[in-house]
Amino acid sequence: MHISTPRGIRFDCSGCGNCCLQWPVPVTAADYERIRGLSYGEAEFRKLNSTRENLYQFTHTLEKRADGRCKFLTAENRCQLHTDHGQESKPSMCSLFPYTFMVTPDAVLASLSFASSAVLYNTGKLLSEQDEVLANQYKRFQQSFNTQTERWQNLQLIDGIGLSWKDFAELDRALMDIVYEQCDSETTLPRKLRSKLQKMSKMVTSLLPSPGAAERDPKLESRPKIVDQLLLKYLDLLYFPKDVFADSSYDLKTRELMMALVAAPEAVLLGDDNGGKFSDLIKLKLGKLPEEIEELVDRFLYVKVFSKFYFGPGFHHLSLLAGIHHLQYVELLFRLKLKQAIVNNRIAVPLKFEDSVELLRILERRITQLDLSKESISVLEILCSSPERAARVQFLAE
Ligand code: SF4
Repeated sequence: MHISTPRGIRFDCSGCGNCCLQWPVPVTAADYERIRGLSYGEAEFRKLNSTRENLYQFTHTLEKRADGRCKFLTAENRCQLHTDHGQESKPSMCSLFPYTFMVTPDAVLASLSFASSAVLYNTGKLLSEQDEVLANQYKRFQQSFNTQTERWQNLQLIDGIGLSWKDFAELDRALMDIVYEQCDSETTLPRKLRSKLQKMSKMVTSLLPSPGAAERDPKLESRPKIVDQLLLKYLDLLYFPKDVFADSSYDLKTRELMMALVAAPEAVLLGDDNGGKFSDLIKLKLGKLPEEIEELVDRFLYVKVFSKFYFGPGFHHLSLLAGIHHLQYVELLFRLKLKQAIVNNRIAVPLKFEDSVELLRILERRITQLDLSKESISVLEILCSSPERAARVQFLAE
């Protein structure tokens, strides 16, 4: 099947070793046996019991040293396995990284992980010029991941309203037309993804049975409701936990969130006890971010939309509308984290590209590792479905 590539997205390995830090690499049974058979002493593996369908081939994770570095990463940032035994001796995930693929009934969509420095900095060859590399990497991907396409037949427009693949494909053409507005070249990155996501939400909302109700005035001037604030707070705890490298829970704190919703607190803090109050974050205006940061965020959002890693089988089987809104919340959260860091004097204005890079890397690593329970997915679907909520909170990003 033809491998489609996103526009204006580049990658060449810079050899920085950052991909070998701070996250447990999932390994297949074959990887596990092969690496244990090599004479390096006992590498630390942790048994994996994930129920995630796209991780079904992985039996263990390769644990890190206490400082977060992979046991096989040398002081020169080289992989010892690769150096001693060649590329094929590494865990298949490492050989694949940062390439990833989404297999739909009509196409194979190539994309990249934003946990990679070269991807974050968009350096190297355009993906559209990497046919041979992509073909080889896709072969690897097929050996480890679920490439069945039937799972795309059970999509939902919103919870309870089914969407056939044929109907989605037609709708997706219109959604991608929005993404490619004012982007005529096949090699140029589409921009203004933030406002384009809002348009996508409106288009999908107009297809709901009672669009009149859904398109009500979102009351942008109103303060975000407590439920909006709590949703953002718990998404923040999920994506930016207090100790991001030690936290090994990759699920939404759903019960806590439900109890907080019932308790209806007067004020909500973003993050932990040191987090800024929403009222403080509203007062601080970010304005337009430096161009290179806006471009980074556009790339991140575009790649997620292009590769369909935001709803359906790509993202916990959320409905299309909830998936669009979840992506909007993730982007909003990124801006709120910048505001929070400014309020707490952790970063200075004008913002530096590097501050944003590390935030986005943390976010991407967490997204990749999410292991949400059924309850969490249901709650996300319910809270993320509302077009009014998604529109109402946007002013928080200003
Ligand atoms: S096994 Fe090698 S490539 Fe994989 S994380 Fe460790 S050092 Fe990096």
